[in-house]
Amino acid sequence: MLAWPDEQLKQMIPTAEVPRAFNVGTAGCPVHGKKVYAKGGTYPWVTDPNRPFKIKCPVGGEWYPSNDFYAYFRGGMKDRSLLTGPYADDGWGWVGPNGERYWLVGYACHWGSWRRFALNGLDSLAQAYLLTGDRRYAHKAGVILVKIARTYPALDYCQQSRYSQISGGNYHGKILNCIWETGVFTNLARAYDAIWDAIDNDKALAELYGYPSGEAVRNLIESNLLEDGIDAIFAGKIRGNFGMHQRALASGAIVRQTGPMRKWLDGILTKDTASHSHIGLNYALYNLVYRDGMPYETSPGYCFGWTRNLYTTAAVLAKADINLFELPKLRSMTDAPLDMICIDRHTPALGDAGNVWGGLTPKSPGVYQTAYRAYGDARYARWLERIGGTGEKSFKTFDSLFDPPIKVDASAKATPQAKASSRLMDGYGMALLRNAANTMGVSLYYGMRGGHGHFDRLHFDLYANGQPMMPDLGYPDFMNGYVSGIYSWSKNTINHNTVTVNRVRQQGNDPGVVHHFVDVDGLRAVDVDAPTTYADLTMYRRCLMQIETGPDDGYLVDVFRVRGGEDHVYSLHGPPGAFETVSGEFGEPAKGTLAGPDVAVGALYDDPVRSKPGYKGTYYGYTGSGYSHFVNVRRRLGGSFVGQWQRAKADKARLQIRVLVQPGQELLLADAQVSPIKHKRLIKYVLVRREGKDLDSTFISVIEPFRDRPAVTGVKQLKVPASAVALQIDRGKRHDVVIQQPEAGQMVQLSEAIRTDAAMTLVRYDESGRPAKTIVVGGSDVRIGQRRVTPHRIDGEVTGVNPKARQVIVRFKPGGGPGALDALVDRHVCFVHGQRRVWHPVARAEATGDSVRLTLADDLLIGRFRVERVEGSKIVTRTAMMFDPIYAGSHATDASFGSYTPVRSAKRGEIILTRPMPRPPERSRDVWLCDVGPGDRAALEPVFVDELD
Ligand SMILES: [Zn+2]
Ligand SMILES: [Zn+2]
Repeated sequence: MLAWPDEQLKQMIPTAEVPRAFNVGTAGCPVHGKKVYAKGGTYPWVTDPNRPFKIKCPVGGEWYPSNDFYAYFRGGMKDRSLLTGPYADDGWGWVGPNGERYWLVGYACHWGSWRRFALNGLDSLAQAYLLTGDRRYAHKAGVILVKIARTYPALDYCQQSRYSQISGGNYHGKILNCIWETGVFTNLARAYDAIWDAIDNDKALAELYGYPSGEAVRNLIESNLLEDGIDAIFAGKIRGNFGMHQRALASGAIVRQTGPMRKWLDGILTKDTASHSHIGLNYALYNLVYRDGMPYETSPGYCFGWTRNLYTTAAVLAKADINLFELPKLRSMTDAPLDMICIDRHTPALGDAGNVWGGLTPKSPGVYQTAYRAYGDARYARWLERIGGTGEKSFKTFDSLFDPPIKVDASAKATPQAKASSRLMDGYGMALLRNAANTMGVSLYYGMRGGHGHFDRLHFDLYANGQPMMPDLGYPDFMNGYVSGIYSWSKNTINHNTVTVNRVRQQGNDPGVVHHFVDVDGLRAVDVDAPTTYADLTMYRRCLMQIETGPDDGYLVDVFRVRGGEDHVYSLHGPPGAFETVSGEFGEPAKGTLAGPDVAVGALYDDPVRSKPGYKGTYYGYTGSGYSHFVNVRRRLGGSFVGQWQRAKADKARLQIRVLVQPGQELLLADAQVSPIKHKRLIKYVLVRREGKDLDSTFISVIEPFRDRPAVTGVKQLKVPASAVALQIDRGKRHDVVIQQPEAGQMVQLSEAIRTDAAMTLVRYDESGRPAKTIVVGGSDVRIGQRRVTPHRIDGEVTGVNPKARQVIVRFKPGGGPGALDALVDRHVCFVHGQRRVWHPVARAEATGDSVRLTLADDLLIGRFRVERVEGSKIVTRTAMMFDPIYAGSHATDASFGSYTPVRSAKRGEIILTRPMPRPPERSRDVWLCDVGPGDRAALEPVFVDELD
């Protein structure tokens, strides 16, 4: 950057008059169309600082626009005779013969002139000055910063951008859109802070712009840039995902010496407002972040953005003696991204996150270095070792240059990686089943759907062979309401491993309720029901059992029950790669798509409004089936179905899916693209469909990842009462019998050999046909051969809670105690209050009198609000709260945490209790909602395990 003469540098930085566009348009290149995305990704065009306001096509290498916009810009954008050639653009786009507007200059301005040249250049120069003290860097940074400050108040994304134009003039921002501007403004404030001391003596800088002194230059920057930016944050014109504008505000406030800095900074913690993007952290960390540390946005990628933003905000606030690291939830937000990792290499690609190939989200040395310094937890040091952020590799970010390297001492290195264990993140709504060797994992999502979530409740991902074997399709083509395939396919229900009802995407947004969760040697399982996911259902329930066949091997039994509705489609898919049918005869591929022989791929055939030619609105509201994305649809003619997938780009990473028979079900094989625009690789789906009035379906499949040969050689369905499922699973000469029913209690008789009323029963037979192992979950009357089996019941009542310490006191029933207290650690306790069931993992257990004090691994506090008024048992608040559906059955308490009053319901700022609080809270006081209260039942899943040999 030093090589650019001042005058030229000054000239090249755009002013507010030049429009910005982060996309050229939806049609791609004027010549090569959408191929640019396949070739160059989301932002495919090439820019070059030596060719300002021009972009190069990544496919053909041709440059756009045809006119010299830079000359037009230097002339004050007046001389229209300069708008020459076939692709002339005056800044507001070139309109093609197809009627599409291509924002050629806008794209060049956004990416080339602003981001890559001016903004990145400014950051690098300011950082170089901080590191070297060489004033030449500060001077060039000043040239850029002053030019920006002069135009900053006039920058108005609403009036000057493609995105605002297509969304009706209502999209805020300054240089960039309101979300990205949070980062821009943060960096502008940081750059000013970095070069601040060099400005007063920089006469050349003052002269270049015609100011009498360096002080006058600083006044300009503080009033035109910092003050205007802070105003824009409060006006919502600079506003991002949670944490982004807070970071921007903290950065601006601390750098700007005058103004009510303390009030601004305190507001970051204490502000009480109905706006969930501006609410203070004291509330946000409970009302917008689930108790296990996951924010409400669902996508692990976007959620980790909160953690990252709060860490940088924390670093800024520390300069004003505000310590965010004391907030226990920030620590949970650091742990949660690690808690959900499967087989040590994959973060579930849930919602708008990840891709079919897998990978890790929290690869941020900056966050975990700061976390390790703040908390000293060896887990973070181990993670830093894993992602390369210790020792010589410590210096991964600019800020890390100012701290000594992280040294992991031998003892921390030697601490064995905690044994992989299954985990319920029951606040967020994710069940994780993981074998002890951490080589096979399942993540099943049943939580609420946040802004970056998909319509995918009860979808699961399977990890084995080092790979995602039944992958979520991941991040859509774009984050943009005007691209139909995002809504008809990428976010839609049918593309996920779950059930689509009545040919529409999922509707309701209550989280599922976990009825069973077990992790014992040989069997890991979750059984979760989410009936309000669709209107008119009484059951939408999946029980997934992971049954081990070796230290690294096992198979899944999937039982998905749906009651109600008139059309059910159970959808499963394997990884990208080769597919073959092992058994089952299928017809020829049908013409057209699953939506019909004449329905084109991706057509919105079931949305009369959005499918009209010339429709210009967004596609957020599309609620249809997405069936038009399936091609090569083949119907089964006969036989059972077993299919095998071989994952592409991996050796011996295979999957077998066997779908079992059910009366009236139709079985289809079909292909669909990973995504309609950027990832056109086909994925093989198996779709199982039932139609009829008031349907009652039980979809069953046996799924096995394997390397050379699957262990499962055959499956027989055994005859049992309708609500139960019993399978004989042959593994060569050995076999397993698996019996499952929604709840324990109904007697299931399987010949003389097995009689069970358990929720889950697994009996493993050896080669000579003798039972070698028995696992029973729930139930009270189980006989295997001559033996009577009784699962150990651990059951009690909550007698006290200490939410700040995450502690619950439980008095167990006589004979219902846990035995060794250590045995409780890492297990999950289910707390029951009426219809409400919540699960918490136990971190510590100690005896206290005749009771046990449990310290939980996640938060007990799940909501916090400021009282507006109290009307008997109703409390009204204006505090932003996102989690209304989870509050019924929780307990209201005041800051003394002395008494607990059950909540009947919560909706839009009205919290209705079952009775008035004993001491009604005064106006402006805070009330907390606690997940567990005295009188709740506390129980562990009753399990019996017996290995006979
Ligand atoms: Zn092109
Ligand atoms: Zn998805």
